[in-house]
Amino acid sequence: MSTITRFAPSPTGRLHVGNIRTALHNWLLARKAGGTFLLRIDDTDAERSREEHVEAIREDLAWLDMAPDGEERQSARLAIYDEAFEKLKAAGRVYPCYETSQELDLKRKIQLGRGLPPIYDRGALALSDAERAAKEAEGIAPHWRFKLDHDEPIAWDDGIRGAQKFDPAQLSDPVVRRADGSWLYMLPSAADDIAMGVTDVLRGEDHVSNTAVQIQMFTALNAAPPRFAHEALLVGREGKLSKRLGALGCDAFREQGIEPEALVALLARLGTSQPVEPISDRDVLVEGFDLSTFGRAPARFDDEELARINTAIVHALDYADVAHRLPEGMDAAAWLAIRPNVEKVSDAADWWSIVTGPVAAAELEAEDKAYCATAAEVLAETGDDWKALTSTLKEQTGRKGKALFLPLRLALTGMGHGPDMASLLPLIGTEEALKRLERAAG
Ligand code: GLU
Repeated sequence: MSTITRFAPSPTGRLHVGNIRTALHNWLLARKAGGTFLLRIDDTDAERSREEHVEAIREDLAWLDMAPDGEERQSARLAIYDEAFEKLKAAGRVYPCYETSQELDLKRKIQLGRGLPPIYDRGALALSDAERAAKEAEGIAPHWRFKLDHDEPIAWDDGIRGAQKFDPAQLSDPVVRRADGSWLYMLPSAADDIAMGVTDVLRGEDHVSNTAVQIQMFTALNAAPPRFAHEALLVGREGKLSKRLGALGCDAFREQGIEPEALVALLARLGTSQPVEPISDRDVLVEGFDLSTFGRAPARFDDEELARINTAIVHALDYADVAHRLPEGMDAAAWLAIRPNVEKVSDAADWWSIVTGPVAAAELEAEDKAYCATAAEVLAETGDDWKALTSTLKEQTGRKGKALFLPLRLALTGMGHGPDMASLLPLIGTEEALKRLERAAG
C-alpha cells in the first residue's frame, strides 16, 4: 500500500513554526516513501475559519516548496461525517446527551473537589427512553458523545514514542457533534483519514490522547487504523512553549530574509539525533528522514541557529537562484564577489551600492593621502587588476599588510571592511576607481 500522509491545519490563523515543522515532516515522510502528501483544511469551525488563512496556508506551502499532491477541505465533506455518524449510531457507539455546559462544569468541579479525575460520568447513558423523550419535548436538542469501549486497553506502536497503552476508562467519552449538528474535530478527522486512505498520521504529541479515542473510532467504523507517530513539541530557546513561536510564520521569516531552504534544513532535523546542517538539497533531507531518530524531548527552536543556517545557505546560492531579488545591473560576477559578505540576500544591495557609488569620503592622514595619489598613478597603468596594483605599490612604497591595503579599501569603498578587493575592484572599474583614489588624495 503506497504511503499517504496528510497535513491538517485549521485555517483559524497563519501557519506558525510548529505547524510548518509538522507539515514538513509529513512531506518528507511521503517523499521518502514515494507516496502522497495531502493537505486537509480542517474548517468545520465555520466561525473561526477564514478563506484568507486557507490562501495563506497554500502560499506558505508553495514558498516552502512543499506543495501538496492533493487538497481536501472538511466543509465540503460533511456528507462523509454524516455517514460515519449514522454508522456509529446504528452500532450504539454514539449517544445523545442533554447536559448544559454549566451542568458539566459543576460535575467536573465536584469530581475535582473529591480528588477524582474529571471524567464524564455517562449520566446521559443512564437516561430512560421516557426521560429522553421529556428532554426532547422540552425542546432540548442533544449533543452527541462517542461511547468508548472500556473492555480492553487501547494500544499502538507509535513511530516515535514506541509502545503506547491507554485505559479507555480513564478518558471521557468525547463529544463528537454539537446540538446544532456541527462537528467537533475528533470524528471528521478519523472519517477523513479512512476515506482519504491515509496510511500515516504524524502530528504533535498534544494529540496522543486523541489518537487513543480515534483508534476506537477506526475500529468502530470497520477500518484498520493508520500508523501513528507523535512528535515532541517545539519550544523556544528559553525552553517554554512561547507565544512568540506561535506567532512566528513564513511571512515573518521572509521579512527577516530567511530562505525557505534554511527553515526547512533546520526544522527537518531539529529534535532528532541527526545534526542540523545547512543542507539545501531536499533529496538529502528526504533520504535521511527517519522517525527512529526523533527524540522524546521537546525540540528547541533557536533564531540564532536559524540565522547561522540561513547565512551558510545564502553563501551557496547560485546567481540564477537570486538574480530576480538583486538590484538592477548586479551580475553574476558581482553576486559571487559580494555573496561571502552577506547574511541575507537583501544585504547584497548595500554592497552593490558601494560598487556603483557614490561612496563615503575616507578620512585619511596626510601620508595616506599621498599614498592614494601614488595608487592612482599606478592604477592608471595596471587597470583594475588588484594584484598588479598592490604588488606594484608594495615595491614602490615599501608598504605592506594593513598599511598597504587599508587606505586603498577606505578610498575605494568608504569602508574599512567588505568583500574581497580583488573581486570588487573590477566591478568598480578602472575609471571610477581612479576618481575615488584621486578624491581621497585630496
Ligand atoms: N486540525 C487539527 C490540528 O490542527 C489536526 C490534527 C491532526 O493532525 O489530526 O490540530
